[in-house]
Amino acid sequence: CLAGGSQEIYNRFEELTKDIDSVSCEFGREIAHVGVKKSGCHGFCEMGPLVRIEPMNYLYIKVKPEDCEEIFNETILKGKPVERLLYEVDGKRYESQEEIPFYAKQTRLVLKNCGHIDAENIEEYLAFGGYSALEKVLFDMKPSEVVNEIEESNLRGRGGGGFQTGYKWRQVAKQPEKIRYVVCNGDEGDPGAFMDRSIMEGDPHKMIEGMMVAAYATGAQEGYVYVRAEYPLAISRLKGAIEQAEAYQLLGDNILGTDFSFKLHINKGAGAFVCGEGSALTASIEGERGMPRTKPPRTVEQGLFGKPTVLNNVETYANVPMIIENGSKWYLGIGTEGSPGTKAFALTGSVNNTGLIEVPMGTTLGEVIFSIGGGVKNDAKFKAVQIGGPSGGCLVDTDLELPLDFDSLKKRGAMIGSGGLVVMDENTCMVEVARFFMNFTQNESCGKCVPCREGTYRMLEILERIVNGEGKLEDLDMLEELGQAITDTALCGLGKSAALPVLSTLKTFRDEYEEHINKRC
Ligand code: SF4
Repeated sequence: CLAGGSQEIYNRFEELTKDIDSVSCEFGREIAHVGVKKSGCHGFCEMGPLVRIEPMNYLYIKVKPEDCEEIFNETILKGKPVERLLYEVDGKRYESQEEIPFYAKQTRLVLKNCGHIDAENIEEYLAFGGYSALEKVLFDMKPSEVVNEIEESNLRGRGGGGFQTGYKWRQVAKQPEKIRYVVCNGDEGDPGAFMDRSIMEGDPHKMIEGMMVAAYATGAQEGYVYVRAEYPLAISRLKGAIEQAEAYQLLGDNILGTDFSFKLHINKGAGAFVCGEGSALTASIEGERGMPRTKPPRTVEQGLFGKPTVLNNVETYANVPMIIENGSKWYLGIGTEGSPGTKAFALTGSVNNTGLIEVPMGTTLGEVIFSIGGGVKNDAKFKAVQIGGPSGGCLVDTDLELPLDFDSLKKRGAMIGSGGLVVMDENTCMVEVARFFMNFTQNESCGKCVPCREGTYRMLEILERIVNGEGKLEDLDMLEELGQAITDTALCGLGKSAALPVLSTLKTFRDEYEEHINKRC
């Protein structure tokens, strides 16, 4: 929305509303406050810039600065919708945002406040029940009870691996070393992924509250949020949120008058994809070069500064407050047995409704692309979707009934990863896609281990040869052999998954590779 001019729209609304405090709306009651505020992302990116009018819940799409006066005169002063700016599909126009199929078919829990509250004002978060989970754990629960609750909820890490969060917390809590850290991985680097950015920009306190609950549960005194420097708005909103939480005695010494103290810092990443890997991330915070290290020791034993460390990603922490408030039983009722809760996905590529969505785990791929995503752009045929960035995998039309959860995807040889979904239509060349991802991982390889440093380089060379029409059929066997060797022997997750896009496209779209080699395309 910012790229589409929403700052100008905001400025124009500020001008228009500055001399007016209240109006009577069509329902006959007085709206005491007339004003404009900046929210986080609404998620319906394809239709941005978006303007939501409350309390009527009108969602105006593709708004331009020149539309503001009409919105002000018709909607603010008279309470009537500006019909031409409402979302319309299949001849039906939607007045209320909640009824738009894109939203109606989602379950927005983690993203509930995004697009609704002013992310720069802690009072709005508090008004929506914010920090009540922190209050609950501080006054009603022992640290061990918090760990039990999270363990019973079976919350699995949303950063990629799906590791049990409660188990991780328990490992940290039982370490003899008493100096412990809580770290948040906000180094979201997958091409096409922006779930964590939206949470940090749209509802930063939710993630902070989750980190604080983790700190209380594990006996940590200090925490770090590692954010990509390419996310300046997320960084400034997190900074503001930390300052405000400190001013409200929700961060710092003796929080809410208890003996629990917690300090939180922000650490800017410098753009290396590999710093999303746990040990590279902690090395980067320590001021070292961001390179993965061999394990053991594990992060829960010797993580940041050699101390026991809880490391989860943004979306995982954002799940924590609602689990504490509503209980693990409630959480287990959402999603699937093995993967409870919801998952946020960034839906991009050749799909009608690009944007940020949240659905219960186990929602099928077809539902996401066709019901929520509105189908493939320009009525083209669906070909494939790259899930979870370069390390995820490639799903095709026979996977449309596949439930999107950790276990079903693992069985299929793919991964949810952080949650990027890049949709491709019949016109996409899958060899080009494989080359694109290999180029990405090759550039991002830190160079520490030979299989990844040399192997990805050689695979990229071969792929470039094939794309340029200079490949040979033997190259395909070489790609498979190299890909398997890198997967088996690379040191960290980046290398282990680097060959996945090539191996999975070779399996399903071998004919396209052969067409390039035989110079038929
Ligand atoms: Fe570095 Fe790649 Fe080895 Fe990971 S697998 S340590 S990114 S060279």
